[in-house]
Amino acid sequence: MLDEKIEPFFDVVVRRNPGEVEFHQAVREVLESLGPVLAKYPEFTEHRILERICEPERQIIFRVAWQDDAGEVQINRGFRVEFNSALGPYKGGMRFHPSVYLGIVKFLGFEQVFKNSLTGMPIGGGKGGSDFDPKGRSDDEIMRFCQSLMTELFRHIGEYTDVPAGDVGVGTREIGYLFGQYKRITNRYESGVLTGKGTGWGGALVRTEATGYGTVFFVNEMLKARGSSLEGRTCLVSGSGNVAIYAAEKVHQLGGRVVACSDSDGVVHDPEGIDLELLKQVKEIERGRVADYAERRGSATFIPRGNIWDLPCDVALPCATQNELTGKDAATLIRNGCVAVAEGANMPTTPEGVRAFHEAGIAYGPGKAANAGGVATSALEMQQNASRDRWSFAHTEGRLEEIMVDIHQTCHDTAEEFGTPGNYVVGANIAGFIRVARAMVALGLV
Ligand code: NDP
Repeated sequence: MLDEKIEPFFDVVVRRNPGEVEFHQAVREVLESLGPVLAKYPEFTEHRILERICEPERQIIFRVAWQDDAGEVQINRGFRVEFNSALGPYKGGMRFHPSVYLGIVKFLGFEQVFKNSLTGMPIGGGKGGSDFDPKGRSDDEIMRFCQSLMTELFRHIGEYTDVPAGDVGVGTREIGYLFGQYKRITNRYESGVLTGKGTGWGGALVRTEATGYGTVFFVNEMLKARGSSLEGRTCLVSGSGNVAIYAAEKVHQLGGRVVACSDSDGVVHDPEGIDLELLKQVKEIERGRVADYAERRGSATFIPRGNIWDLPCDVALPCATQNELTGKDAATLIRNGCVAVAEGANMPTTPEGVRAFHEAGIAYGPGKAANAGGVATSALEMQQNASRDRWSFAHTEGRLEEIMVDIHQTCHDTAEEFGTPGNYVVGANIAGFIRVARAMVALGLV
C-alpha cells in the first residue's frame, strides 16, 4: 500500500511517463516502502528527493542503422538512460532484446540506482539497450550491430561518466565488439569504460559468474538467518543464460541440487541434477537451447512451453526475465513446500507473487539486493582497471561473498529498524534509498 502522502506523487509519475508500465511497477514498489523514511527524515521532503530520484538525469534515444548478411539495411533503436549519478558514474548493463523500449530501460535504470547504492560502492545508476534481437544473427551481424550502436553511444560514456556492462543478450562477445569500436573511435585504451570484458583484455575474474554466485550467497544467508542452509536443498533456476548457469553452479558447490532450468521455449527437468558442463557446452559454446541439452542427457525431460514453477522445490531462483513468476506461481511454490526465493533476474516476481511470499512467511530476496553481486564485481573490475592490477579468482570471489553477506545484513537490519523484520523488500528499498538521498542532499540542487 502507498502512504497517502506518497500516493499523489505516484500519480504524477504515471502521468509523466505514460504507457511505461514496468517503470510504474518498479517505482511503486520502492515508494511503498518509503513512508516511514520520509517521516523520519523531513529533509528528504524539503529537498524534494522523491520527485528528483524518479526523474532520470538524462535519457538518450538514438537510431542504430546496420547491414545484415544479405546486404539489407536494418534499423533499430538504441537507449541509454543515465538515471542518477549522486554516488558515482552511471553504471548498469545494456540489454539487447526485441521487448526493449524506454519503459523497460527506465525500470531497469531505476532499480539499478538502489541496487548500486546497496553495494556500498561508488557507483551511480543507469541502464541501456536496444530492441535488436540477437537470436539467429550471425557473428558478423552481431559485430556490425555493436559497432553501429557504439558509433553513437561513445560520446555519452566514459570511465568517469557512464560505464555500461552486459545484460540480457549482451555477454563477453558483445562487450568485446563494443569495446573495440570505442577504442577505435576514441584512440584510447580506456579499460574502465565498459565492464564484463574478456579476462584476457581487462575483464575481472569472477565477473562472468558474479550475478549467479552472488544470488546464491544471498539466498544462503537468508537461510542461515533462519537456522538452515542450502545443503541438501532441491532448487529450481529459471532461464539458462549467464545468471542462471552460474547460480546453478554455486548451488551445486554449496551442496544443493538444481533439478530444472528453462528458456522461452520450455523447461528441462533433470531430477539427477543439471549437468553444468553439458549445459555450458550447449549454451555458451554451441549457443543452443535447453531442448538440445535434454536430447543429450538421459535423465532429463524437455517440457515444451512448460512452467518451471509447477515443479516441487525447496528454493526457487528466478533468473530469466521480469514478471516471470506470478501470484498463481507463488501459490503453487508455497503449496509444494518452497521455503526461500531469491531473484537473480530483475523484478521477476509480480506484485501479487511478492505479496503471497510475504504472507506465507517465505524468505524472499528481491533482485535489487539478491542480484547485486554482478554490478558489485563490475565495480571491482573498474577498481582493477584503474590501478592496472589483476586479482586472483579466489580473492575476487572472497570480496564478492563479503559484499553479498554485507548486503544481506544491511537489508535484514534495516527491515528490523523500520518495524518489518524479515521483509527484505523494505530493507533493500530503504537502505538503498537513504544512501542516495543523503548524497543528493549533500550535492545540492543539481
Ligand atoms: P541472458 O541473455 O544470458 O539469459 C536470459 C535467459 O532467460 C535466457 O535463457 C532466456 O531464454 C531466458 N528467458 C527470457 N525470457 C524468458 C521467459 N519468458 N521464460 C523462460 N526463460 C526466459 O541474460 P542474463 O542471464 O544476463 O539476465 C537474466 C536476468 O538477470 C535479467 O533480468 C537481467 O536483467 C538480470 N541481471 C543480469 C545481470 C548480469 O550480470 N548479466 C546482473 C543483474 C541482473 P531465451 O534464449 O529463450 O530468450
